[in-house]
Amino acid sequence: MSQIFQKPLKILLLSTSVGALGSGLGGGVELTLKSVAQALSRRGHSLTIVAPEGSVLAGVSLVPIAGTLQITAQTQGRDALVTIPQNSVLGNMWDYARQVQREYDLLFNFAYDWLPFYLTPFFERPIAHLVSMGSLTDAMDQMIEKVAVEFEGTIGVHSLAQAETFRFKNHCRNLQNGFDLSLYQFCSQPKNQLAWVGRIAPEKGLEDAVAAAEIVGIPLKIWGVIQDEAYWQKILADYPTAPIEYGGFLSTTELQQVLGESRALLMTPRWVEAFGNVAIESLACGVPVIAYRRGGPSEIVRDGETGWLVEPDSVDGLVSAIHKIDSLDRTLCRQQAEAHYSLEAFGDRLESWFAALLH
Ligand code: UDP
Repeated sequence: MSQIFQKPLKILLLSTSVGALGSGLGGGVELTLKSVAQALSRRGHSLTIVAPEGSVLAGVSLVPIAGTLQITAQTQGRDALVTIPQNSVLGNMWDYARQVQREYDLLFNFAYDWLPFYLTPFFERPIAHLVSMGSLTDAMDQMIEKVAVEFEGTIGVHSLAQAETFRFKNHCRNLQNGFDLSLYQFCSQPKNQLAWVGRIAPEKGLEDAVAAAEIVGIPLKIWGVIQDEAYWQKILADYPTAPIEYGGFLSTTELQQVLGESRALLMTPRWVEAFGNVAIESLACGVPVIAYRRGGPSEIVRDGETGWLVEPDSVDGLVSAIHKIDSLDRTLCRQQAEAHYSLEAFGDRLESWFAALLH
């Protein structure tokens, strides 16, 4: 039950509007929303999730909303305009929220999109916003900042590095993330393979991991949604002899099984990764993480203990770290995940955020 609230809260969770839950298009937000729902319902809070039609999430009350999906924010320039298509699912979701808001104590926004921030002052109920990416466009920064300042305490982020990308960094609450660790099995004896997990899109820098795998001659297994087909084809064309194998987009249960059999996970993002869910999923299986020293992973990986932090964009750095990987103790990886990123630890962080926000 709740550690902080006498009475359970009624919370309306509004998902990302770039894809249905379960499609993989929402990236880490999909698993984050699931973790939030699990962490909070275990504490007795009553939850309803509003998400694009076609969403799948077992064991929760889900309100599917029809409409056209938003395009993703990652690939646009700093001066990108805010775009909303005709019959926007984002607009429809927030229209629904407006109508039912009085049945809830709190609304919880997961969309990195302009509209929910803009609408905040027009709602009667408080809105908690979990911002899933660092600064990307001026229009978004300006709107999030307005809410951060006028509605103090309503902006949650996943890492200090992510907060640092915003002018309003001092108004952000660092919630990190949490995971149902019972789904991830510790694997002490890996196969001779490396792993790369994530959306296949330019900001994720997959080509560096492929280049490193080619140099060390260890097979690289790749799992995740191909979000940018042209980018993926270019990698295949640029590295025709690299020892890579694409395994598709897997469910958490399937993913942890094969990820666990890896000697290390490579995280090679070009952008400031807000958190990097896959880092914790990897640690939970006992798999050390080799990551560029930037963004969320640089706050997660304990250099020389649960992985190696490497100079950003350096393939040579990745290669040296791969050579040192067997000196790390895989049990410490699992222990770190349990100590900081369990649903219990995350539930504590979420509840104290809500308590501060609602009082
Ligand atoms: N993922 C998955 N199956 C796969 C590959 C990835 O479910 O085959 C999920 C993974 O569990 C993680 C998400 O995709 O939650 C990627 O999130 P991350 O925070 O690492 O990056 P983002 O996509 O948000 O930039």
